[in-house]
Amino acid sequence: MSNYHPLNEAEAIQIARTISGHFDKEGELVCREIGDGNLNLVFHVSQPSSGRSLIVKQALPYAKVVGESWPLSLDRARIESEALILQERLASGLVPKVYHADHELALTIMEDLSSHAIMRQGLIDGGVYPKFADDISDFLAKTLFFTSDLGMNQQEKKLLARSFANPDLCKITEDLIFDHPYTDADTNSFDPHLQADAERLWSDAELHLEVAILREKFLTHAQALLHGDLHTGSIFITPESTKVIDPEFAYFGPIGFDVGAVIANLLLHYASQEHWSADETARVERRQYLIKTIREIWVGFERKFRGLWDEHGTDRIAKTPGYKDLYLRNLLQDTIGYTGAKMVRRIVGLAHVADIDRIPDPAVRAKAQRLALAIGTNLIKRNRQLASIEQLIDIADSAA
Ligand code: ADP
Ligand code: MG
Ligand code: MG
Ligand code: MG
Repeated sequence: MSNYHPLNEAEAIQIARTISGHFDKEGELVCREIGDGNLNLVFHVSQPSSGRSLIVKQALPYAKVVGESWPLSLDRARIESEALILQERLASGLVPKVYHADHELALTIMEDLSSHAIMRQGLIDGGVYPKFADDISDFLAKTLFFTSDLGMNQQEKKLLARSFANPDLCKITEDLIFDHPYTDADTNSFDPHLQADAERLWSDAELHLEVAILREKFLTHAQALLHGDLHTGSIFITPESTKVIDPEFAYFGPIGFDVGAVIANLLLHYASQEHWSADETARVERRQYLIKTIREIWVGFERKFRGLWDEHGTDRIAKTPGYKDLYLRNLLQDTIGYTGAKMVRRIVGLAHVADIDRIPDPAVRAKAQRLALAIGTNLIKRNRQLASIEQLIDIADSAA
């Protein structure tokens, strides 16, 4: 019999007390549920007398989708805690510290990052993050290289892949990113003014072919252990610090899927500047900042990935002349394709982004949405022809 049940605040406090050495023995603990999702509970437990705090995140056994409930494996809580522990080992300081995990209760007790802002909101508020490109390219290069066949023993990798199979969450991704946006699916959700734009997506055979290629690669190309949901809502940030959270979608997939997630969310924010910038001068400047960040992320990621390859590459394949350049070129093309796919789904699919949804004026919102769709579809259609990050940047800048 499983002990699993959703915790209440008093129980979250009781469990937090058991983390040895964290809180003073005497002081009272207070708890608030602060989760914003449909999938998980997030309890913030603090001790006013000592100023100490922590987070208890617990998975729920269902997801709320269009008013219904989908059963969803609680095993994703184990996946999340194990991914955080592995990421901390590979890219130290860039994820919250895990204090304790209980797989039966499907919970992870971790470092409280309330001193940071969720990056999506930080960007909406006009934030500038000078360390972000260096930090996130570090996170991507280290976590992805060292879990690929270039950076780890293949037998160990296969065993690790078994414990990160994550079929339920991969199914959500497959449906919501690679399927529903390209057909008249019930789960799709978009403003009525986008009806004709959505219908064009549903009948675009050239687009469907490229999406099919990206989808098949998502399903079969077990290149490295991905974060799997690396949007700006999964990043806690300050100007000095970056922490990646929420790896419950982690599984072995194509590296470009993670790199593309970051770039897609920066480009969605780029599109949303139709509203968030006060005037044309501010818009141009803000977009230049976002483009500079995207360039630095790719350039930094590629330089670091190549450096890890030279220093740690496994003998079997890493040393073959010419192979590294080919690998990085494919990785860039995947990144561009997944960037596009992740932009399109945020405009017409089930889950949107606040950057764009919160634009109050429907005409301005429509302009931002069409810009995101134009950039996204172009990136999907052209990914296999492109050979440099500057070409992605040109596609964004010439659409704006
Ligand atoms: P979900 O998987 O349900 O999206 P997240 O892990 O993204 O859950 O957390 C949801 C919210 O809870 C975050 O946006 C943040 O506000 C809060 N949160 C999650 N983890 C932490 C943490 N380690 N420190 C502080 N707040 C957190
Ligand atoms: Mg959430
Ligand atoms: Mg989240
Ligand atoms: Mg999540």
